[in-house]
Parts: sequence; structure tokens; C-alpha cells
Amino acid sequence: MTDAPDSALATALAVDLTPWFEASHRDLTWRRTRDPYAIWVSEIMLQQTRVETVERYYSDFLERFPTVFALADAQESEVLEAWSGLGYYRRARLLHKGARHVRDEHAGTVPDGGKALRAIPGIGRYTSGAIASIAFDRPEPLVDGNVARVLSRVCGIEEPKRQDAGAAGHWALTEAILQRGQPRVLAQALMELGATVCVPRNPRCETCPIRPHCNAHATERTGLIPAPKKRVAQPIDRLCALAVVSRNRLLLVKRPATGLLASMWCLPLVTDEDGPTELGTVFVSPDALDDWKLLGEVRHVFTHRIWEVRAMRAGMSRRPKLADDVETAWVAPGELPEGGIPGITTKLLRTVGFAAESD
Ligand code: SF4
Repeated sequence: MTDAPDSALATALAVDLTPWFEASHRDLTWRRTRDPYAIWVSEIMLQQTRVETVERYYSDFLERFPTVFALADAQESEVLEAWSGLGYYRRARLLHKGARHVRDEHAGTVPDGGKALRAIPGIGRYTSGAIASIAFDRPEPLVDGNVARVLSRVCGIEEPKRQDAGAAGHWALTEAILQRGQPRVLAQALMELGATVCVPRNPRCETCPIRPHCNAHATERTGLIPAPKKRVAQPIDRLCALAVVSRNRLLLVKRPATGLLASMWCLPLVTDEDGPTELGTVFVSPDALDDWKLLGEVRHVFTHRIWEVRAMRAGMSRRPKLADDVETAWVAPGELPEGGIPGITTKLLRTVGFAAESD
């Protein structure tokens, strides 16, 4: 296949996908709206996150920040707080920045496509296509991993470079498909097919509406396309979380403004190589702490690395010395400071016995 889309194939796919999507799509909360801001929020939340998880956060987030202005005018700590537990917090920061851009450059109205949409912080080619097609019914293409898998199979593409979501051929074919019907239906149909039918392993070809046009199915290569990816081992950081308790209150520190979990609350962390030493910014002078006791271990998987954290309760012979520029909070069991609480902190609070009872 060249990068020029096959016009007859695009038409056939559009014809078969439309009634299938109308009849079979999942009733997801964000599919009940045409509000571009709400669709933008959903698309950012859905990046690297399961649909079931997003369902738990989406409505609450929109209730708290119902408009571009509400989000743009909020403090970053409020946004991180609403995002707490969803992970990949950079997305929340960029969404917030994006809302400020739309407030300041577009009087709060989300642009309906093209360059103006892609100029918004946090909105790349995929998200721009999703907002333009789903909210504004414009034939602007979008290709994620799901769509790329469907099209690679339909077209019988075996070359890994032409299989991935950045491949020019996929974008051209998607655009051609969207031009042959209702873009908002067809864009979602392609994504839905990849998420529910044309799944990575054992695709459900017997229920697939586009099976008659599928090269991989016809040639019995659905197990070969796309080519299995080699797994890259993720680096593991071994850390100690210090449970420093004074008068039944636990010390939390706000992490530095850049880097992993930026500006979010966590227990003081130190590397766990030769006993507690400093980790980047020095949160606590470890020699103020003694009588270490292991309370438990927590493993947390980020996108590109894994943390294995031992939670240590420190006896306090002296009050720990904290770096001057570190923001701190002393919390009672079940209490949380205002601002973002990442998943790793929730796990650690549970491990050290400071989580709310319902957690
Ligand atoms: S026929 Fe099978 S492999 Fe082809 S698009 Fe449908 S589910 Fe995917």
C-alpha cells in the first residue's frame, strides 16, 4: 500500500462502520456530549488510562471545572487535587495550561480544528483530530494505537514502520474514511472497533462489521499483524519513604516543581542504596532520624519506570531538619492537605496507617 488512500476501501469501511457504531457502541459518559471542552477533558484523561478508571473521575472533574473559564481560573494545586489518582500528572498541568491559553487567546471558546486547535498546550495531532471530529463533526483524522491496529490489519501491512500510529498511510486513510460519512460517528467507530473487536490478541473477527474488507483476516495473518513489540525493561528505583510522625501527625512534603510527581504531596523520599541518603532535593536530614522500623513495601509503576518503596517509620531523637524551600504539611490519620495526592502517596498512607478508613 502506498500512502495515497484507497478510495474504494475508504468508502466501504465508512458504509459498514456507520450502522455498526450506531447499534453497538458502549454508552460512555463523554459520548453524551458535544461540548468540545468536555470532549477535550475526556481525551486527555483517556490517554494511557483505562476507560473504567476515567469513568470514575470524568464527571467529578467536570462538576468541579464545568467550563474552560472554571479550569483556567483555578489554581494548579486544585487541578492536581481533582486529578489525584489518575496518574500521569503532566497531562493535568498541560490541560490547565491549555485552558488558560483558550481563555486568553480565544475568549474561552475552543477552536473547531486546524492549527488553532493544535497550538493549544497539550493538544497534539491526535487530540486535535478527536476534538475536531467528535465535537465539530469535521473530517480531521485521528490515529491512536487502536485505529492503527485496525487499519494495519485491514490493509495487511507487515512493515512495523507503517503499522504504528504515526504512519502517514494511516492518517491519510482515516481522513478519507471520515470524508465519506459523519466524521463524529466514523472517528469514534474506528476507535471503538479497535478497543472492543479488533483487540490486540484474538480479535473477534466473527463479529467484525468490516471483515469482508480485511486483508489480515482473509490471509489468516491477524496474529502476525501488527508485529509483536519487544518489551523494554523499565528501570527500577529503590527508595525509602520516611514515615515521620510527631504528636500523631505524619509529615508530608510537596515535591519539587519539576520532575516526576512535580508539586504533589508525598512522604519524604530518599534513595535506598546505602541506607537513607539524599534524593535530588534534600527533604530531610537523615541523621535526625533513628530506630528505623520497616512498615511495609509498595511498588508503583509509572510510564517509564518503576518505584519500589520501603516505608520506614523513623524514631525521632530530634525534630528533622527540612530544606528551607520545601513546603510541608503535618496530617492526622485520614486527613489530606489541599493539592494533588498521587497514587503512590495513597498507597504509602495505607501502608503507614494514615489512610482514611474508606481508602
Ligand atoms: S476482521 Fe478481524 S482483524 Fe480484521 S479488522 Fe475485523 S476484527 Fe480486526
